[in-house]
Amino acid sequence: DQSLAELDPEIDAAITAELNRQRQTLELIASENFAPLAVLQAQGSVLTNKYAEGYPGRRYYGGCEYVDVVEQLAIDRVKSLFGAGFANVQPHSGAQANAATMAALLEPGDTILGLDLAHGGHLTHGMRLNFSGKLYNVVSYHVRQADGRIDLDEVERLAIEHRPKLIVAGWSAYPLHLDFAGFRRIADQVNAYLMVDMAHFAGLVAAGLHPNPVPYADVVTTTTHKTLAGPRGGVILTNRADLAKLLNSAVFPGQQGGPLEHVIAAKAVAFKVAATAEFADRQRRTLEGARAIAGRLLADDVRAAGISVLTGGTQVHLVLVDLRNSELDGQQAENRLDAIGITVNRNAVPFDPRPPMVSSGLRIGSPALATRGFDHPEFKEVADIIATTLIKPPTDALRDELRHRVSTLVAKFPLYPTLACG
Ligand code: PLP
Repeated sequence: DQSLAELDPEIDAAITAELNRQRQTLELIASENFAPLAVLQAQGSVLTNKYAEGYPGRRYYGGCEYVDVVEQLAIDRVKSLFGAGFANVQPHSGAQANAATMAALLEPGDTILGLDLAHGGHLTHGMRLNFSGKLYNVVSYHVRQADGRIDLDEVERLAIEHRPKLIVAGWSAYPLHLDFAGFRRIADQVNAYLMVDMAHFAGLVAAGLHPNPVPYADVVTTTTHKTLAGPRGGVILTNRADLAKLLNSAVFPGQQGGPLEHVIAAKAVAFKVAATAEFADRQRRTLEGARAIAGRLLADDVRAAGISVLTGGTQVHLVLVDLRNSELDGQQAENRLDAIGITVNRNAVPFDPRPPMVSSGLRIGSPALATRGFDHPEFKEVADIIATTLIKPPTDALRDELRHRVSTLVAKFPLYPTLACG
């Protein structure tokens, strides 16, 4: 058996380079995290060899006794984590979880009501080029221009006017809690299903630091790789026994073939971790980190540069920076931070005058650095580095100093210290 380095040195070199990149930069992309080594090990295991179409105890292949153990553990752990009566852990991604849920609940041509992509929604909540926009009749709700908050009055008005069969609550870029009870009330008013997509904030929910949507929604979907810090993948949850079978058959055979049992094993490991006190502490640091970044970016020197924070703060793991009145566009701000070793993503802000590829905002998230071990003092330092970089174009000397501050932070919290590198 040849090692990866022996068999495929090109791929091995790229993986090693990526490990070094992750080690040496400050990762502030809100949807990213560092999965524990045990998660990487489960995902890189021999389970990748196994076909297991079907569900535990009801497979279309022989030899499934051990993957049954794995998948049942994943199901039981995620149900317990979120207080759900049913879980499907097979969706290959968050998008697949949403596709399967919509396929279970809707017919093509039915109306869905979701948050506009340009206002923080996800592609799968009705974007024109996505399956959701192509298969369903999409009506979008928005945030208010005045305060950047989701306008539940508009949600209610649109729901009454368009009678959607499904209302989607959830976001990829929104810094506040959603009013799950308010969404439930509106869904009941028009007899719609309520799906909550908690992909971004599931880790906070698991830690008890964010309201849990499971008691309110007909179906909850999530990814497992954002705040949850597991492998890339999706999960579907419900407390409605009458929907369980529909959801299972929408995933398999509806959307997918063989489940990725190696990924499901890694999900199970991540769910075990997510039930620990250490994980809850990490989510606390995640929230404090985001608050520290928002706080610094609200200071007078940043404000004077025309930079502001949408909604005036954050209740979650991310901060949305509004650059519309600054000299920077999103692309320039992203590049400027990249040049000193900070990775973020540019992001459209609501009512953005620039095209999405350029945009007028940044989305800055704290989960990955919290996983790395950062606490309040380090996040304060990160926040100050970001503010200093954005306020004005750094001179060469300042850029060197900022890079040095990044290197000092990075060195303090070694990433995957036991993984061999190169
Ligand atoms: N739902 C939300 C709210 C998301 O933010 C994302 C990913 O960014 C997804 C679903 C899709 O997840 P995936 O990239 O695993 O398909």
